[in-house]
Amino acid sequence: MIPFHRPWTSGEELRHIAHALEDQGGAAGRHYTRTCEQWLETLTGCHRAFLTPSCTAALEMTALLARIRPGDEVIMASFTFPSMANAFVLRGGVPVFVDIRSDTLNIDETRITAAITSRTRAIVAMHYGGVACEMDTIMAIAERHGLIVIEDAAHAIGATYKGRQLGSIGHLATLSFHRTKNIQCGEGGALLVNAPEYVERTGVIRENGTDRASFLDLKVPHYSWIDLGTSCLISEFSAAFLWAQMAGFDHVLEQRRKLWLQYQATLRPATDVPVIEHNAHIFHVLAESRAQRQQLMDALLIEGIQSVPHYQPLHSSEAGLLYGKVSGDMAITDRVAATLLRLPLWVGLTTEEVEHICARVAALAPPTAPLSDPARRDSPPHSVNI
Ligand SMILES: *Cc1c(COP(=O)(O)O)cnc(C)c1O
Repeated sequence: MIPFHRPWTSGEELRHIAHALEDQGGAAGRHYTRTCEQWLETLTGCHRAFLTPSCTAALEMTALLARIRPGDEVIMASFTFPSMANAFVLRGGVPVFVDIRSDTLNIDETRITAAITSRTRAIVAMHYGGVACEMDTIMAIAERHGLIVIEDAAHAIGATYKGRQLGSIGHLATLSFHRTKNIQCGEGGALLVNAPEYVERTGVIRENGTDRASFLDLKVPHYSWIDLGTSCLISEFSAAFLWAQMAGFDHVLEQRRKLWLQYQATLRPATDVPVIEHNAHIFHVLAESRAQRQQLMDALLIEGIQSVPHYQPLHSSEAGLLYGKVSGDMAITDRVAATLLRLPLWVGLTTEEVEHICARVAALAPPTAPLSDPARRDSPPHSVNI
């Protein structure tokens, strides 16, 4: 059986957890948390990083930081994870869904302006599979309309846009260290703050709306409740685990890119962005139809290969219909959601296993015309856009 995913471990996790256990009082109980945050600040160049219990928690913090009020609108793709919409709906906000691009599977930036109303407060740019959204355009639109840009970089650690690290471009950004992501600690995440004016309030929000952080820094004699907040600190034990992963980050990225390139040599991925710009978080192909995807999944599973579709569109989901709005048509979202299939991609997967998967996919799925780019019709004969 080749599972779709298997989390990687460096072997140093237990040593760091044991150290955290001995060092409970060290650096006010935040040694590993702060070490990981500084690593993220160095990697991304963000102004300040805050570890959180999850990417979901970090997204919920962005809704507080953006001061989302009932009726405020937040523009986002529908082909994404529900926590992105929930974060704003929990504040009374309204997700406004726009379609994605067929080449990157990210929010179509040319459709954002049409979705803006007097109630719009923010745009969320989710970098699908670590492939960058068109950030220059999105930032320019946001500036013109006075909107906050939040990057959901849950997939995207270490990936770049025009040489800049994803997560360092929007006013705020979120990362995930869930067990399914490139580096992980079971459950974990981060909020990256790029606009310095949000730093102080972030420290207050994650300490239950108190100035406890200032108290710990001996800046105030006691702490008290000064703003809205919640408990958004990660456990030191999770941070210790995560630190063992960060130390192996370059290895993980290199191995994943190698496997991704091996897939690409045989199969045609749903996106043609060079692997050096993204972080090989996902290798996905597109079937001709929902039925063909199901057939392929079933056939692969019989051969011991687990493959997995991705997001059910939010705009047509039960909660999406209740809480969201749609701007424009959703043709590409609907087609991609019905036909996209992710293949196994994890550190430890062997070259022979990828060869085997590629051969089975190529044999089971007849080659068809590509989704978007006519130039890709020149691809080698084995290249199938299943
Ligand atoms: C995984 C993921 C999340 C949620 O991350 P958690 O850390 O599990 O809360 C949010 N957005 C996207 C795009 C994701 O892939």
